[in-house]
Amino acid sequence: MQHLGFSHSKIKIGSFDFTCCEGCQLQLANRESTLPAFLELLDIRNFREISSERHDDYDIALIEGSITREDEVERLKTIRNNAKILIAYGSCACFGGVNSLKNHFPIEESIKEVYGDKEIDTLPVRKISDVVDVDLSIPGCPVSKEEVERIVVSVVTGSLIELPKYPVCVECKQNLNTCLFDLGEVCLGSITRAGCNAVCTTGKTPCLGCRGPADDINFTSFKELVAEKKLSIDDMNEKLGFYNCFEEFRHDKS
Ligand code: SF4
Ligand code: SF4
Ligand code: SF4
Repeated sequence: MQHLGFSHSKIKIGSFDFTCCEGCQLQLANRESTLPAFLELLDIRNFREISSERHDDYDIALIEGSITREDEVERLKTIRNNAKILIAYGSCACFGGVNSLKNHFPIEESIKEVYGDKEIDTLPVRKISDVVDVDLSIPGCPVSKEEVERIVVSVVTGSLIELPKYPVCVECKQNLNTCLFDLGEVCLGSITRAGCNAVCTTGKTPCLGCRGPADDINFTSFKELVAEKKLSIDDMNEKLGFYNCFEEFRHDKS
């Protein structure tokens, strides 16, 4: 639970992408129904998806993507120095995201597999908070645009900022879905933070945990459920590793 805020009315904001697909920025840019009203609150200083303005003075920096190159480290540190509040948004920025699958393999092997003998400047994937201080994190792959708008408006107005503490299962049950465990699938919904309205499971696709762990999860019970349903522990571990959100639980031997 956090309170942030500004004394002046029009907040200067910049959005910056690092290693990612830019899907989170696009989510914001595509929210046509509320975008004009949202932008009324803000002075866009740097946001290449929606503006040609390029300035280095901003109150809030929204950071999308993970860090995978040395030049990104320097650029990120400069942005941190320029911003009063830095918000990591999207699972790439908050956890490393799908890019972190690269970290599961020896880096030279991965480069050779994709680029052959070409020289590539690349580092093991890091989340934004591994490199600079992060004031707020908004998870999701992609982010929920409603949630980003809500949180940015809360920052601007100095209102309370919270993410749901409960797991995706709550939203899944509200949507009256049949549990995918009963259909023979491992689903991470019971250990993953809600806020996406269970979009995957409502579409009959298991939750891969892109929003990271919910508060106070019981991982032992989750593992027992996978075993009780005679489902694959390898499948569970693969899903836990997909967005790099559950590294402390993956391959848990307890
Ligand atoms: S979190 Fe997902 S949608 Fe957002 S930039 Fe990363 S890969 Fe793209
Ligand atoms: S399908 Fe997944 S999210 Fe839905 S109730 Fe089952 S475990 Fe929870
Ligand atoms: S259901 Fe799971 S994987 Fe899908 S958007 Fe929600 S948190 Fe992410």
